[in-house]
This record gives sequence, C-alpha cells and structure tokens, in this order.
Amino acid sequence: MIVVMKLSATRDEVDAIMDRVINAGCRVHPIYGEERVVIGVVGDGTSLDKQQIGRMNGVENVVPISKPYKQASREFHPTNTVIQVGNVTIGGDEVVMMAGPCSVEGREALIETAFACQEMGAQILRGGAYKPRSSPYSFQGLGEEGLRYLAEAREATGMPVITEVMEPELVTLVADYVDILQIGARNMQNYALLKAVGRTNRPVLLKRGMSGTIEEWLMCAEYILSEGNTQVMLCERGIRTFETETRNTFDINAIPVIKHLSHLPIIADPSHGTGKWEYVGAVSKASVAAGADGVILEVHPQPERAWSDGRQSLKPKRYGELVGQMRVIAQAVGREIAYPSIGSLLRGDYNCRARTNHAKFSLNSSA
Ligand code: PEP
Ligand code: MN
Repeated sequence: MIVVMKLSATRDEVDAIMDRVINAGCRVHPIYGEERVVIGVVGDGTSLDKQQIGRMNGVENVVPISKPYKQASREFHPTNTVIQVGNVTIGGDEVVMMAGPCSVEGREALIETAFACQEMGAQILRGGAYKPRSSPYSFQGLGEEGLRYLAEAREATGMPVITEVMEPELVTLVADYVDILQIGARNMQNYALLKAVGRTNRPVLLKRGMSGTIEEWLMCAEYILSEGNTQVMLCERGIRTFETETRNTFDINAIPVIKHLSHLPIIADPSHGTGKWEYVGAVSKASVAAGADGVILEVHPQPERAWSDGRQSLKPKRYGELVGQMRVIAQAVGREIAYPSIGSLLRGDYNCRARTNHAKFSLNSSA
C-alpha cells in the first residue's frame, strides 16, 4: 500500500508512520516529493491495520496497490525511474543506444568494434563473456578474460559496458568489471540470481524470458527491487510463438504495456527479437516509435565470422545508418538520440580511428 501524507505533514508525523510500518515487519520506501511525502509500504502487511494508519496524524489517504508486483508498479512509483550510468542517462528524454558483439571474441576485436559502435552513435557497449548457448559444445564465452577486455574497452572508449551474468556465485566478480549486469532470457526466473544482483549496487537489465508473461516478468523485477536495488531496467527480446520465419516474435505491445504498468525503463532488443539482421532495422525503428527508452543491438565488423549470433548482427556502417533513422523517429515522438561526440567524428572513418586509438591505448596500457 501507499501512504500519502498531507501537504502540512511534519517530519515527526512521517517518522511515526514509518516506525509503525517497520514495527509491523514491513519495509518503507519514502518518496520525498517537492510538495508532499508519499510512503510506499512493502512486505507481508497482515498485522497492519490500514484504517488505523489512515487515522494517524498527517495522513491524507492510504491507497492499496492492486498489482501482485508492488515496487515495480507505477502505482507505487508514479514517476519514471531514471538510471545514471557514467555519463549516460537511461529512462530520461533520450533514447539510449547500446551496441556491440554478441560475444567478446578477443581484446583487439572488442576494442575495434567498440570504437566503431561509438562512432556510429552507440553510448553503451554490450558484449557477452559468459554465454548461455543452446548446445554445451558451442563456444561458452571467454569468462573472466572477456570481462577484462570489456573493462579495457571501457577505458579506451569511455563507454559504460553491459554484460550477462549467469550464476549467483559470479555476480560479485562480474559487477567488479562492468557497469550494468544483464540477466538473460533463460534466467529471468532464476530467483537466486535475481536476489544476488538485487544485493549489488549495479544497474540491472532484466530480459524477458522467452515464455514469460509481462506479469511474470514484472514479478522477477520485483525480486531484484525487493533486495534493495532500485536500478532495474526491462528488456523485451522477443517471445516464443508458433512462427518460425524469425528466431523469436518481438512483442512490440510490451513496450507501451510496460510503460503503463511500471515506472522502470524499457529497452528493446530487436537482434534477438528477430534473429535476422535484415529485420532488425524495421523493428528497432518501431521500438523507438512505441516508446522504448533504449535499443540494444548486436553489431559485428564481420558478422559471417562472429563466434555467436552473426546471423542477426549488423555491420557498423549499417548500424550507423539505422541510428540516424531512429534519431528522426525519436524526435517525432518527443525524444532524442545523442549524436556521437564531435571528437570521434573528426577522427575519420572508424577503421582509421580504431587503429589510432588502439595504438594509443596499447601504449598507455603497457606504460
Ligand atoms: C544475448 O544478449 O546475447 C543473449 C544471449 O540474449 P537473450 O538472453 O535475450 O537470449
Ligand atoms: Mn546474442
């Protein structure tokens, strides 16, 4: 439930409500607005008498939350959650561009792709070091070595990095290297993992499970939030349907539905949502039009040689063209997509720039 305090409520009156709630074994999430204080209450509130709380000094009214997920609901938190990662703001006016290879394949390859993506308009670098593959015989990721390369790519480009974590035991290690923790579709309902990332102070991108309903997905976000981590963003990456032309069926509906039901940012992943690069552009543009707060895409300089998901990966040049088109759509719906920094554009084509910066970076790192 939510306790809405009167405009005239005093600090002591707010504290008295919070003490009462905490003594009943629940948790409080006070939101200090410009005008009034609103106290979110979560937990098993069977011993809390809502009418009695409603009669306490300073209380305007008590509103029950109708949804099974509480902290993830817009009722609980009417304003959009905004997450700051380095100099990138997620969930604000800008639609954030995240891009990079499916898997981290090596140091040089990653740094080169990172520079290419950045020059084409990406603000956050993606790359998997631990890969959830359908076959145990497929490439499983470079592990900690891949995390080191991600950290180096961040240092070289200044871009925050996101990577998937698959096991609770690895959460602290992965969180030491990267800026955003990704929970993959196959782990959406891995509750031990959700609790473990909920205990970190890193933003989390929670992908929708391939058979997860929107309500189940929001309940999974609730697991992370209930551990104290409020920096959660959701990612629509397609669901499994009877259709076989595409790898998954991207659920465009999920974007406005999540915006309506929740305050958490929603990111679109048309790469996994379609599985084929030729459909990625259309679905990315549709996602921006539908209100996505970000678009995460797989980009590889040589998709035919990618160690995973080459079929759905865009080449950097095509990615750059797409970002330009998404920018126009973003403006049409009252949003913006940042331009790449002037510095990166002045340095010419991406290969040249990647090589120059590589050389500089290698020198720095061996110094
Ligand atoms: C990925 O991001 O490369 C990935 C494995 O995604 P998903 O969990 O959505 O399949
Ligand atoms: Mn992938």
